[in-house]
Amino acid sequence: MTAKSAAAAARPTVYGYPRQGRNRELKKAIEGYWKGRVTADALRGTAAELRRENWRQLADAGVHEVPTGDFSYYDHVLDTTVMVGAIPERHRTAVAADALDGYFAMARGTQEVAPLEMTKWFDTNYHYLVPELGPDTAFAADPAKQVGEVKEALALGLAARPVLVGPVTYLLLSKPAPGVPAGFDPLTLLDRLLPVYAEVLADLRAAGAEWVQLDEPALVQDRTPAELNAAERAYRELGSLIDRPRLLVASYFDRLGEALPLLAKAPVEGLALDFTGAAAANLDALAAAGGLPGKRLVAGVVNGRNVWVNDLTASLSTLGTLLGLADRVDVAASCSLLHVPLDAAAERDIDPQLLRWLAFARQKTAEIATLAKGLSQGTGAIAAELAANRADLAARADSPVTRDPAVRARAAAVTEADARRSQPYAERTAAQRAHLGLPLLPTTTIGSFPQTAELRTARAELRAGRIDPAGYEERIRAEIQEVIAFQEKSGLDVLVHGEPERNDMVQYFAEQLTGYLATQHGWVQSYGTRYVRPPILAGDISRPEPMTVRWTTYAQSLTDRPVKGMLTGPVTMLAWSFVRDDQPLGDTARQVALALRDEVDDLEAAGSSVIQVDEPALRETLPLRAADRAAYLAWATEAFRLSTSGVRPDTQIHTHMCYAEFGDVVQAIDDLDADVISLEAARSHMQVARELASHGYPREAGPGVYDIHSPRVPSAEEAAELLRTGLEAIPAERLWVNPDCGLKTRGWPETRSSLENLVAAARTVRGEL
Ligand code: GLN
Ligand code: ZN
Repeated sequence: MTAKSAAAAARPTVYGYPRQGRNRELKKAIEGYWKGRVTADALRGTAAELRRENWRQLADAGVHEVPTGDFSYYDHVLDTTVMVGAIPERHRTAVAADALDGYFAMARGTQEVAPLEMTKWFDTNYHYLVPELGPDTAFAADPAKQVGEVKEALALGLAARPVLVGPVTYLLLSKPAPGVPAGFDPLTLLDRLLPVYAEVLADLRAAGAEWVQLDEPALVQDRTPAELNAAERAYRELGSLIDRPRLLVASYFDRLGEALPLLAKAPVEGLALDFTGAAAANLDALAAAGGLPGKRLVAGVVNGRNVWVNDLTASLSTLGTLLGLADRVDVAASCSLLHVPLDAAAERDIDPQLLRWLAFARQKTAEIATLAKGLSQGTGAIAAELAANRADLAARADSPVTRDPAVRARAAAVTEADARRSQPYAERTAAQRAHLGLPLLPTTTIGSFPQTAELRTARAELRAGRIDPAGYEERIRAEIQEVIAFQEKSGLDVLVHGEPERNDMVQYFAEQLTGYLATQHGWVQSYGTRYVRPPILAGDISRPEPMTVRWTTYAQSLTDRPVKGMLTGPVTMLAWSFVRDDQPLGDTARQVALALRDEVDDLEAAGSSVIQVDEPALRETLPLRAADRAAYLAWATEAFRLSTSGVRPDTQIHTHMCYAEFGDVVQAIDDLDADVISLEAARSHMQVARELASHGYPREAGPGVYDIHSPRVPSAEEAAELLRTGLEAIPAERLWVNPDCGLKTRGWPETRSSLENLVAAARTVRGEL
């Protein structure tokens, strides 16, 4: 087939679409069902209507083969667990009694049984429910959901392409079930799992699906030869089935690397590859592998996880190159559009000029359709779209929003020395000890105190204009007074103001920094019915005025003990926002870092001796491929140091991270050059303390002794026991006593008792030293 005839076949397609609906109808229906206000039938009706609406939108945009099975009441990995019959033992009774309630029991747990564990879906901010498998797992096909959705789409007169989590990724994402030895390798279940996929595939074909998409994003991570072998074997076996639809194996979020030649040779009819960002390396790799002769290539050229308009000219050039490499080239987003908001046109508060730079799911679908048309019919057929796109990109490039000369000049002038404290840690620590005069095993908290209903109401009233800023200020001050009084009374050593004024640890700062955009309807699923509205890093970042100083100094005015200033770090500000795609991430991080540096310096000037800069996202933004990690950690740690190194040696810089497993980033944590770090540790019985010690971590650390994820109050004796365990790894001169994380999700009664016990534990153990 010549390039020209291949071009004639180009079609737009997508792998998945936002599930929630225009007004988050799905969230409302599901939460209503949980509360008993919505019947199961009504919930199913709402879900079916939302699927129809999505398919109609896609079909109207020119997508001929709509994705099915991407819809979910909670999570598509949990749907796969149901599809392959891997229901954990402890949930079987609930699932047998009622499939829908059993499904939600697996997702959320019940009084009697714990839910499945939840973890991040690759390096996105979506969370999936981790399958639990063991040597006794017996799979059984349950294709009802997938088959049902195919039939729904066909009934609307549309062609349907079911999208399934592929068998290799499913196994690689799972973990040993409770009671199964940790050494159990779920991949050993592949031979048992493939016949179940074979059955599902046959059923989908019988239901009318010509193509089925099997998503294998796990293959974009570094994989062992055994894992690659398993992938090779899986697709050889599925490919050689007689009764099956055509198979499209999809990958996204990064390049396939060694898995690419292997999948290119597999007996399947198509591959979907990501060509954005680091995954652009797929282009050369595909050419080197000899292309996909006789096969369908789905080219993900529109970034499916960011919010910017596509550079259509650049994408067409990539697509043009790809035309020579496959029998048929279709155009897609790099991944499911689940990771972006639904519709930029719903935004009323964003400057219309800037709105033209943004593309959410609906706009991305239109871009994909335009590109497919241009590829098939030539650029003349999309001349108007190309001209408008060039104008939008040029406007963005030249805008004073994206280019603030003062910000650029300052960032360009940063030197290595700017990101270094004036004295090394060992010298600073003595100065800080003298300055702060803290006892051994000093006690503190991570920052937030309970975000009560009254606080949220006060914020809503301020927004609605029912109270004025002075009235709001009054309520926040009252809360700070209460928080300080409680901490003094309970005997904590380093106090906090409690963060009552913060709606969210990123949004609060984004709202005050120039260069950030906020959306009104930009909801993205985080997990289940929880949606977040990430702010958008749209332009050059600067801080017009101090953001936290007045609250912190007010708190400090109420006490003689040190009050910790509290900021969100530059890496976390990026990780939980949509980032610019027109400059390296490190450049954006540096701008944010400089804005934060001003805040840190202002806090110190206003009298803060202790300042905490939270970086809970440092590890979660780690690139999927090990080869890319050093470069990431270099700019990430530099940004943190840049924000914190303007202070005097006797000012103590704290940082905080939540996660428990971080052996691979201990060096990076040390490179932050913070004086004190607090970490989550209560559930793992101080595992992080041992890990820090085994890496020779030389600084002060507070492994958490109070698990804040549960309302349970730890006893003083229990906290003391954890401290004693901590002391086995970290000497008393360097050990801090604190909870695992902030207390914003907790209620006051348990917070009071838990912190009183924490202080009592510190006193007991000090007495034993
Ligand atoms: N300072 C923040 C708080 O206490 C930290 C939250 C976090 O680590 N996610 O709420
Ligand atoms: Zn935390």
